[in-house]
Amino acid sequence: MSRADMRDKGIQTQAIHAGEAPDAATGASAPNLVMSSTFVVDEEISFSANNIRPDTPFIYTRWANPTTAQLESKLAVLEGAEACVAFASGMAASAAVMFSQLSQGDHIIASNTNYPGTAEFVRDTLPRMGVEVALVDSSRSESIEAALQDNTRLVWVETPSNPLLRITDIRAAAAIAHRAGALLAVDSTFATPIATRPLSLGADLVVHSLTKYIGGHGDAMGGAVAGSQDLIGRLRGEGVVHYGGVISPFNAWLILRGMATLPLRMRAHEENAMRVAQFLESHPRVRRVFYPGLASHPQQETARAQMDNFSGMLSFRVDEPRPVAQRMMRKLSVIHYAVSLGHHRSLIYLMDTDDLIESSYRLSGEEQEKYRESAGAGLFRLSIGLEDADDLCADLDAVL
Ligand SMILES: *Cc1c(COP(=O)(O)O)cnc(C)c1O
Repeated sequence: MSRADMRDKGIQTQAIHAGEAPDAATGASAPNLVMSSTFVVDEEISFSANNIRPDTPFIYTRWANPTTAQLESKLAVLEGAEACVAFASGMAASAAVMFSQLSQGDHIIASNTNYPGTAEFVRDTLPRMGVEVALVDSSRSESIEAALQDNTRLVWVETPSNPLLRITDIRAAAAIAHRAGALLAVDSTFATPIATRPLSLGADLVVHSLTKYIGGHGDAMGGAVAGSQDLIGRLRGEGVVHYGGVISPFNAWLILRGMATLPLRMRAHEENAMRVAQFLESHPRVRRVFYPGLASHPQQETARAQMDNFSGMLSFRVDEPRPVAQRMMRKLSVIHYAVSLGHHRSLIYLMDTDDLIESSYRLSGEEQEKYRESAGAGLFRLSIGLEDADDLCADLDAVL
């Protein structure tokens, strides 16, 4: 059974079977966990990462590993990609894409609000390497277009984005990037392939933190990038083998196990999130709710067009967030006051506006005003889990 066999199947079948096959030696139905760091070989194989081919046998786990390879194949099928490569974390994946695609004198266009780790990497690390950075509100395609330069090599968007849940029109962003000869990379962590398949909309690379929805249980960190065989082959050689951010096979095995239920979980996350979003929207203490599934979302039309599922991420605003955060830390009985997202457990965290603007986003002028207008003093980022929606609403009601 090859993974190609699963490409014509439905997404639930793919989530369970793609990339996996019963073990040839034992008949084991579930994937084997292969922790071996090295492999016995019976032919001469080049010691260079530059000579790795898709059919190169397993040599060393930093090159490729049988458990990790099953995870990569499954995600490739779910994303409709030719190939996929896994990393130790979402940040390892993001950094590897940017370092391997960009050289001194190149230019990157990135969203001006997104995952704080990515935001700081783009603002601090890339300029030190001689890369020029333009930061735009990518939910407005025209602002991507206006930032293009002759040396633009990469456009990086996150949709839906941290923490405002802004939606970027992937098809439009891809057309703009390609007209300039640049690649489009999409951090699709919030969407997952159940909601959006960026490659089918023209993106060149899809990036995921597997730590979030794809693993789904909050017990394993990982990252991945999917795309063409050519781009992913080169990314594996440089971004994994040389930079070294390789995923542990144990984490790959846990994430692979989590992926089987991804379509079911996303449906339940969406259903719960819609219930909680409506509850919050009608709550007298809540000033504003951001959820792509609500009619009040500023890019609802784009969200409807490119998302088959609105996911379980929402953010909301109250007038005085700090005391509310304090109450949440002390009094929440179901929801955990914790960072991260995409787990079966609901997680909430205050994204303080002053802190974000100073430390990660460094917005000024009109962009800062626009952010404050939306986010006020801070947004509670809420990752809706798989508990009963009534319990989540009661938990929030008690602290608001
Ligand atoms: C968490 C996250 C990352 C980073 O992933 P890690 O696995 O924590 O390194 C990147 N992008 C988004 C959108 C995320 O939510």
